[in-house]
Amino acid sequence: MKLAKYEVPPNVRGGRFDLTLPPGASWVRFGNDVLLYGEEAQWKGLADRARKGHLQKRERVSTVKKERMHIVVQNGRLFQQEHPEVPVILDRGRFLLVELDPARARRLGRKSPTCYGVLPLGKNKVVFDVQARAAARTAPIASIQNLVDKISRPTFQADLTRLVSFPTRFSTSVHYASAAAEARNQLTGLGYSTKFQNITVNGGASRNVIVDKRGGAAGARKVVLVTAHLDSINLQGGPAASAPGADDNGSGSAGLLEIARVFRDHPSKHDLRFILFGGEEEGLFGSKHYVAKLSASERARIQAVVNMDMIASLNTSTRSVLLEGATLSQRVINGLKEAAATYTNLTVETSLNPFASDHVPFINKGIPAVLTIEGADNANSRIHSANDTIAHVKSDLAVEILRMNVAFVASEVGQMS
Ligand SMILES: [Zn+2]
Repeated sequence: MKLAKYEVPPNVRGGRFDLTLPPGASWVRFGNDVLLYGEEAQWKGLADRARKGHLQKRERVSTVKKERMHIVVQNGRLFQQEHPEVPVILDRGRFLLVELDPARARRLGRKSPTCYGVLPLGKNKVVFDVQARAAARTAPIASIQNLVDKISRPTFQADLTRLVSFPTRFSTSVHYASAAAEARNQLTGLGYSTKFQNITVNGGASRNVIVDKRGGAAGARKVVLVTAHLDSINLQGGPAASAPGADDNGSGSAGLLEIARVFRDHPSKHDLRFILFGGEEEGLFGSKHYVAKLSASERARIQAVVNMDMIASLNTSTRSVLLEGATLSQRVINGLKEAAATYTNLTVETSLNPFASDHVPFINKGIPAVLTIEGADNANSRIHSANDTIAHVKSDLAVEILRMNVAFVASEVGQMS
């Protein structure tokens, strides 16, 4: 197959992208980059279609067998750090197009499921999409704006500073137990009803922290979940090594505490639940256990899950967030997008390739969950190491993402009049 990279021009960005190509030919979109591929004999026709679709050509053609093209979704640069020998055709940070033998791709796809995923390249696929910010902007609602404005950078930073002061938050360590107890105390202190949920992580004991806030509506109430993993890891150094986990995921955990602070006195109609998961880094143990224990009626009551994992590393010149879900979470993605447009200055990217965080077990059970994560056009090479320190964190980005999440959650849980 021949391959060429095109750019979606600014005037058609943010809209629904579609391009009809001859049989056998296909496209794949990575943000504003579109790759067209087809057989040699089709090439002239393909170039014509691209021109009619207003695509602008940016890069020269290369040749690769169709079955060897794979999409990699990676945390930080973990795939490239482990496999520098694999040729990268297109590099968009969290998302790569790589050339791999199909059997090897299947093996690698199973190897480190919390570090990266490897998928065969589908036909006419949007790997991730960059939204035109102005598209969904609506007038702010005063009661929601009030809650959004309660997000405070100093309290977020104070919480983050406390979290990174543990030598590690490795899920089965005494330090994790202390961090979980401290977070629970803090949430209890805000006036919430809290509990631990015990979990087993590779034979060791760990726990989730669960907070419930009852809504005031009479009759059947829905529940909205805000989640983040509290644990950290140092992959090279092992369980005892320093793992500050400032971005991954002190940022999401401190963010959860901050959102809990904002909603403490909010008279919501529907229920609100906050969960700090353990065992995420070892393979989503906390969220898998939580979802497995839900009754069918509790599952059905969950209206939306907003997961935060890495919200404070500024990898691009603009503040951007990636909303990652699946088709069943499209309504939540749309709501978050609208919240971002109305209450923040974030650039929003979206993806329907859910991977490697606590939103995945929910999605696998048909629950509409979305991951909110710092925009990843460039690399964050520090995660899962002793270098994921608070010095590299940009609280301004986290605050913007929290403002988006608060606005969305507020609109979901409603307010008693
Ligand atoms: Zn994480």
